[in-house]
Amino acid sequence: MRKLVASYVRLPENLVDRLRKYAEVHLAYLEDIQHILDKINVVIGYDVPCEHLKRMERLEMFQSYAAGVDGLPWDCIPGNVIVCSNAGANADAVAEHAWALVLALAKNLHIHFERASRGEYVQSPGSLFLKGRVLGVIGLGSIGLRVAEIGKAFGMKVYGVSRSGVHKPPCDFVGGPGSLDKVLEESDVIVLAAPLTRETRGMIDLRRLRKLKRDAIMVNVGRAELVKREDLLQYLEENPGFRFASDVWWNIKEDFRREAEILRYPNVVATPWVAGGFGNREVWEGMLEKAVENVVEYLRGGRPRNVVNRSDYV
Ligand code: NDP
Repeated sequence: MRKLVASYVRLPENLVDRLRKYAEVHLAYLEDIQHILDKINVVIGYDVPCEHLKRMERLEMFQSYAAGVDGLPWDCIPGNVIVCSNAGANADAVAEHAWALVLALAKNLHIHFERASRGEYVQSPGSLFLKGRVLGVIGLGSIGLRVAEIGKAFGMKVYGVSRSGVHKPPCDFVGGPGSLDKVLEESDVIVLAAPLTRETRGMIDLRRLRKLKRDAIMVNVGRAELVKREDLLQYLEENPGFRFASDVWWNIKEDFRREAEILRYPNVVATPWVAGGFGNREVWEGMLEKAVENVVEYLRGGRPRNVVNRSDYV
């Protein structure tokens, strides 16, 4: 029997056609699917309404279009459903963005631009020369590994931290979560690219921030909650030499102005969650394609990629 797929994210026609070769496809953003919720086998989306999920008694697979699945409606997805992230789908773009933020801070672009735009020609030293310095990548998956490769191209020494701690070239050192303190202590530039799980939430707290070199650079492209917000504010206050950049935010929906509080520090650079698909249409379309490819793999009886361990999130 043909399975029923419901997409809650707008898909281009070619991807809908691809799915239709293997399943009956319903587009929840265009049609009312209330009457067939109990027959849906596969969902593609992210913030799918709980009222819908609760009525999907035949749900087998939930495919997220986003790489990070920390924000899925976990409480409403039954434990027997296969949940797949879209890890890796926008890794190249996010790694490029991470480097844009590293370079902005390392070369003080924001400070030079600000002065130059006021008509001031100030040739101050203070730029960080990257060659020979240590890059620490926290979360050495698709994004982290690409960040590491680019770091190597700058002639940096690269240390990584992953969950497994398994060595991956081109890194000079890779350790498990137990080596986080060592990597933080020894790195000149740190890029956070780990998923937000029960284990990683708040992993960068004041104790760990105080382990950093005083002039370290830290860039977060993972999820804001990897870093304890109040601890970061305190550390920025304590340490004018520390430079921090983020593409991700603790609380965008309710009060972004509160978030912007962090931007009053001269050594902070930030972007509004544009590293991946929200910042580039081609990247967004590539993400949808990867999500659909994975669903097609499942519909054809294959093994889908990126199956998530539910206990990491619930
Ligand atoms: P991957 O699943 O490919 O990589 C995740 C990496 O994190 C893996 O290396 C994994 O280790 C590691 N990891 C897991 N737990 C820990 C831990 N406790 N300590 C250290 N490392 C850990 O995902 P991606 O690289 O594609 O994406 C990573 C995250 O980036 C996403 O989950 C999402 O939150 C964020 N993201 C942000 C975007 C943005 O727009 N700013 C866009 C896309 C993603 P191991 O290799 O051993 O499994």
